[in-house]
Amino acid sequence: MDTHSVHQYKEPAPVIDREQPLTSMMRRFDVAAEILGLERGVYEYLKTPVRQHIVSIPIQMDDGTIEVFEGYRVIHNDVMGPSKGGIRYAPDVTLDEVKALAAWMTWKCAVVNIPFGGAKGGVRCDPSKLTRVEIEKITRRYTANLMDVFGPDKDVPAPDMNTDEQTMAWVMDTYSMHTRKTENAVVTGKPLILGGSLGRREATGRGVMVTTLAGLDRLGMDPRKAAVVVQGFGNVGSVSAELLQEQGCRIVGLSDISGAYYNTNGIDVKAAIEYVRKNRTLDGWKGGDPVTQEELLTSPCDVLVPAAKEDQITPDVARKINARIITEGANGPTTAGADPILQEKGILVIPDILANAGGVTVSYFEWVQDRVGYFWTLQRVNRRLERMMRTAFDTVYSVAEKHKVTLRIGAYVLAIDKVAKTLKVRGIYA
Ligand code: NAD
Repeated sequence: MDTHSVHQYKEPAPVIDREQPLTSMMRRFDVAAEILGLERGVYEYLKTPVRQHIVSIPIQMDDGTIEVFEGYRVIHNDVMGPSKGGIRYAPDVTLDEVKALAAWMTWKCAVVNIPFGGAKGGVRCDPSKLTRVEIEKITRRYTANLMDVFGPDKDVPAPDMNTDEQTMAWVMDTYSMHTRKTENAVVTGKPLILGGSLGRREATGRGVMVTTLAGLDRLGMDPRKAAVVVQGFGNVGSVSAELLQEQGCRIVGLSDISGAYYNTNGIDVKAAIEYVRKNRTLDGWKGGDPVTQEELLTSPCDVLVPAAKEDQITPDVARKINARIITEGANGPTTAGADPILQEKGILVIPDILANAGGVTVSYFEWVQDRVGYFWTLQRVNRRLERMMRTAFDTVYSVAEKHKVTLRIGAYVLAIDKVAKTLKVRGIYA
């Protein structure tokens, strides 16, 4: 038996119109930097990650063979405080993607005004082909390799694509074994029993709901008359759909990786959640007419919530979109090339670094609760989250109005200005 094979993954095939998330991020960053008149040195400082780690993760698989995976952790910026950001497991994770996601975290934390910098991590692996034991080994070895990087005062991971509460529990346990003490503030998104926060699971969707209502309010639209389409029906998509329905919105479209569905009369979101709980995906669901993913994104609605993955709204799709508001539940769902098209069509885009910041906000609450050792009620978590999201929306809105730019550029201007000013006050060491 070959016990030293190396796990090789092909680079994902380039997709027409696909814009690398790093390019997308930098195009918006550049516009905001120009508006702020950012001096060259500060521009260079803020665009460059402070640290980039690549680690090798050798694992003994269940069949006895050894496979070697590659893991990444990028600290984009730690000027505002310990860096914060999720860990994703996917076959197509690249260092560039992790760099973009890490930078988004820096800007997101600044937009909602929490004392964290930005980071992101990933392991290039296909979790659908791994057993639970193999995923646990990958997680523990990845954590052990990054022992000097992680820490409650240094860098605090969280879940992201294909990682969950259990993954965070393994990170916390491995870290605690090495430091010889239970250190639950080293990660967020943990199970409640290990010091997780009430409301964390629903936090991103709740933030999407709050910012969508704020957007409808600005356009003078009644949520009870708003038709909503949600792309992606995982954590963010399903909670966003459920909470918006609770607010009186009519959910007319849903999708996940297995297919998309449209029903102009309104979808019973709770029934769809129950269907996915039993069947894992929406495949075969009868609550709406099957449509293609593109038809879903471009179907008639008032609010479109892309909550699946990056690069879904390309210039081509943007031209056909029929919504008044796009609330970006996912990170980077709109390519930079699509921005001017949406702007020209007068669509209010509530950008990812604002719309999906509810997750990191409650992660911050979790970190605070772990460090103090005192846990909040769900009402307190939700009340504070809703207040912070509403304040962030209003602040971004007024910055955008002041500079006569989109909410996206307004959010970047707000965030970059804040981090740049903090950097200036701290000064450059040595
Ligand atoms: P998830 O894995 O729980 O759900 C993802 C959903 O998208 C699934 O329903 C999946 O089937 C669907 N999907 C995947 N590819 C698709 C495609 N091509 N077309 C349609 N649907 C597709 O993930 P999540 O935690 O809900 O995250 C979704 C997005 O939100 C990601 O971009 C993530 O980075 C971002 N995000 C998540 C959080 C969080 O707290 N979970 C916070 C901020 C941002």
